[in-house]
Amino acid sequence: MNPVHSPAQNALEDAAELFRKTRRVVVLTGAGFSTPSGIPDFRSEGTGLWSRDEPLEAASLNTFRRSPQTFFHWFRPLARQIFEAQPNAAHRALADFERAGHAITIATQNIDGLHHKAGSTRVIELHGTIRSLSCTQCFKQYEATPFLKPFIEQGTVPLCANCNGILKPDVILFGEQLPQAAWFDAQKETRQADLMIVAGSSLEVLPVAGLPMQAVDRGAHLIVINNTPTYINVRADVVIMDDVAAVIPDIINRAIHG
Ligand SMILES: [Zn+2]
Repeated sequence: MNPVHSPAQNALEDAAELFRKTRRVVVLTGAGFSTPSGIPDFRSEGTGLWSRDEPLEAASLNTFRRSPQTFFHWFRPLARQIFEAQPNAAHRALADFERAGHAITIATQNIDGLHHKAGSTRVIELHGTIRSLSCTQCFKQYEATPFLKPFIEQGTVPLCANCNGILKPDVILFGEQLPQAAWFDAQKETRQADLMIVAGSSLEVLPVAGLPMQAVDRGAHLIVINNTPTYINVRADVVIMDDVAAVIPDIINRAIHG
């Protein structure tokens, strides 16, 4: 063991220094940000729900329209995991950074609402959210909590009190467009950021994967924290191949107190 400085230590300090200097930071978070909270990356082959029932089919808009029961059957175990999950140390660290008075926007590909639970207030949910549902017939929107428990425990399909239509979670299914307002918002924030963080995302899902490139092309600094390489690592100021919960609290702690 080298007792002085390992490269990893230098990377943490370099990242902390960029956090200290930033005036406006956008943090792009993906499935890897929530896996330490026990939520499987359901898009990754070989893990969790992906391999079990062909989720591309089950989690598609087509399936939802044709056979909502098929969708809800697939969605139920995921909904339970999300309902029971708590923010991890990385979620809490980003909320701490905001509370310390910094301008931080989180653009997330996750639907679990854990950034909100941790206390972050500026969160753009690019793939929608499990926190609300909308009627497929009259479009009335509902807060999800009252529907979640009966759905998770008994499999009760959520119905509209207004018209008895089936309620669809406000998450983006395969075959659906990103929520337009969220997407515009994320692009606007990206244009204004002087620092972009990619955290727990392998940047495999377009168009969100293009945001970090837009940021660096405009001269923003870039930090990538992910277990596996991403296409944009070659453009990053700092690359840390590790678990977000293992390194982000340390980086934020150094940035705030260091
Ligand atoms: Zn309705």
